[in-house]
Amino acid sequence: MSEPFTPIREIGEFGLIDRLQAILGEPTDPDLIMGIGDDAAVYRLPDQETVHVITSDALLEGVHFDRLITPLEYLGYKAIAVNVSDVAAMNAEPRYATITLGLPSKISVEMAEALYRGIRRACEKYGLVLVGGDTTAAHTLCISVTVVGEARIDEIVFRRGARPGDLLCVTGDLGAAYAGLKVLLEERKALKAEGLNYKPDLEPFRYVIQRQLLPEARLDVIRDWRQRGLRPRAMIDISDGLASEVHHLCRHSGCGALVHAAAIPVALETRDVADRFSEDVDTYALFGGEDYELLFALPPDQLERLDPLSFNVIGEFLPAEQGIQVQTPEGALIPLEPAGYQHFRSGGDGEADLLE
Ligand code: ADP
Ligand code: MG
Repeated sequence: MSEPFTPIREIGEFGLIDRLQAILGEPTDPDLIMGIGDDAAVYRLPDQETVHVITSDALLEGVHFDRLITPLEYLGYKAIAVNVSDVAAMNAEPRYATITLGLPSKISVEMAEALYRGIRRACEKYGLVLVGGDTTAAHTLCISVTVVGEARIDEIVFRRGARPGDLLCVTGDLGAAYAGLKVLLEERKALKAEGLNYKPDLEPFRYVIQRQLLPEARLDVIRDWRQRGLRPRAMIDISDGLASEVHHLCRHSGCGALVHAAAIPVALETRDVADRFSEDVDTYALFGGEDYELLFALPPDQLERLDPLSFNVIGEFLPAEQGIQVQTPEGALIPLEPAGYQHFRSGGDGEADLLE
């Protein structure tokens, strides 16, 4: 009998992680507070008051970025920022990073240095130190980063913890990184067709392109909260898209939710891009990924204690039986599908998932 062969796309990224987790079994380590299943793992230090969080995220050429439209310095910055975002989503401070580089022969020493200038800039900005890694030859450019962060045990915020009646809140604006990707892919097409004669005018798209190429982790927001002595009840960062992350928060918290599409903050430039492509901007905001904003649950009586400019209320948590719904700007209530960016779901071999 031949071995069964289940294509990974049949169960998807999260289905695969569940299967792999089942092989590992439940960890029994007494210091482990959170293993697989949140934005970062959390373990207790011997003083019993401090915890470390640890998270890894990789950026792969052809899957997460295309070299033609991605300056290497920005790529280095983004590789750190997306990991810091997961640390921020635990309400912790990043401390140390390691990095594994897979370098194809078309990458020169100078290019690797450019990548590292971006990495250094992000480390300075977020206050962490790169302390090591590994370097290997590879067929395409791969950057895998691990970040360790630190917090007091009572500061940590998990994906679980939201309760019916809590407000569903988000920092910044959504959909811009996806809009930036749309513009960049269009530019890539023109660049390929017209070669060096092509003179792009990207000025009208400055904001959305920056959101795609140079995202920021919202450490500024969690630092502000810490100063005010505030802590949301549950939190996640938006990497795969709002809809997918709402589902994660609800599943872990045992809640339902209602999202008001009209309340989702969207930048004017993002609307312009959606118009240009004759697409619905709500789709960008709900399902476009890589915003790296924070999505969190706040008890209504805490609302006045937050800086109102730093976030928007976009819905509320409900009892689980009420499901997860979105109210369209026209007022209709429809189920919010957990769609968003998921590896293996779209492409054949996971290659060029994002780009084709
Ligand atoms: P995020 O989008 O916040 O980075 P992911 O969706 O990538 O989170 O991962 C969800 C959870 O699954 C995290 O706890 C992560 O550490 C874990 N995870 C992802 N891939 C693996 C793997 N190959 N082996 C073990 N754990 C994994
Ligand atoms: Mg995350």
